[in-house]
Amino acid sequence: MHDDKQKSYCEFCNKLVYYYIESKEVSESLKEKKYIYNKKIAYCSECNNEIAVNKVRDYNLSMLYNTYRVENDLVSLKVIREIPKKYNIGIRPLSLLLGWGELTYTRYFYGYVPILRYSDIIKKIHDYPEYYLEILEKNKDNISRFAYDKSKYTVSKLITNNAINKSIVKQDLNKLKILYIIALIKEEDEDITFTSIQNVLYFLQGFNYAFEGMPLFNGNCEAYYHGVLCPFVNDYLSNNEIKIDVREYDSLVLNSLEFSIVNSVIKFFCCYSSEIIKRFVIFGNPWKNTVKPVLESRPVLESKPVLESRHIPIDKEYIKTYFLEIKDKYKINTPMDIKNYTNQMFESVQQY
Ligand SMILES: [Zn+2]
Repeated sequence: MHDDKQKSYCEFCNKLVYYYIESKEVSESLKEKKYIYNKKIAYCSECNNEIAVNKVRDYNLSMLYNTYRVENDLVSLKVIREIPKKYNIGIRPLSLLLGWGELTYTRYFYGYVPILRYSDIIKKIHDYPEYYLEILEKNKDNISRFAYDKSKYTVSKLITNNAINKSIVKQDLNKLKILYIIALIKEEDEDITFTSIQNVLYFLQGFNYAFEGMPLFNGNCEAYYHGVLCPFVNDYLSNNEIKIDVREYDSLVLNSLEFSIVNSVIKFFCCYSSEIIKRFVIFGNPWKNTVKPVLESRPVLESKPVLESRHIPIDKEYIKTYFLEIKDKYKINTPMDIKNYTNQMFESVQQY
């Protein structure tokens, strides 16, 4: 599998030879300190002596410098390279804007490690568009009008978008959570009905109680003929179109435990038909206890029409108690164990 790219000069064989590469951990000095990193070493395929290969040497240098950056808390090359694109500015204008030599940023961009003071400035610019904008305004005379205009447009848009995202999250976390979770459910099963979505939300609410002692959303669940209604989502479902890019909000709306609860519930419930999911709901005590007083005084034949027209709020304590019980009963120690419950329930409800 050799090709010409894999050939390099061997001074022992005095010709171009194929080579192979091995890695080993080495300790090397840089600026009077030792750094440990994984170095690649090229060997001649014919005489097995170590030989010099340009691209291997470049790779090792970048590994050594990366280690150096990490251990000295210096800005990474990745961050340095992101900034011109992020703020829509050329490398040279950026350098001038910062009040540095015209080629300083260019050197950093191609791997030269900045001194600590410059490194801190680069990090701050990267993390805070507001700080970049401040510098852009202050030093705009260092760059062309055109470079200033296009960078200003980009950074202003970025700041506005960040502000919008933050205020949505802050003001309406509940709404965003619901939209986000519905989008996740639809990603798993695009044909799922609104009826089933609401039943799945009920289980999310319940399992969140079991793990975190509190509900995932604000608002009540209501028992009715097809399982559970979640009136708090009706506003969002009624427009029939959920426009949200779930990945944008991944870590924003749910903590990591909630995220695994949501993922497990979706995974272990959405694989069943809407009829089976409904049976999971109405086999549970919260639903049974809620409809019991309403149906008690009526003949069995009337139960269907009654529950089709009436929605009865489920007491939150019923939900909390029940899900804490099943967490115990089905040995649900982590969200992945929720399948113990669904597997078992599926056996029971099939015979219904
Ligand atoms: Zn050789």
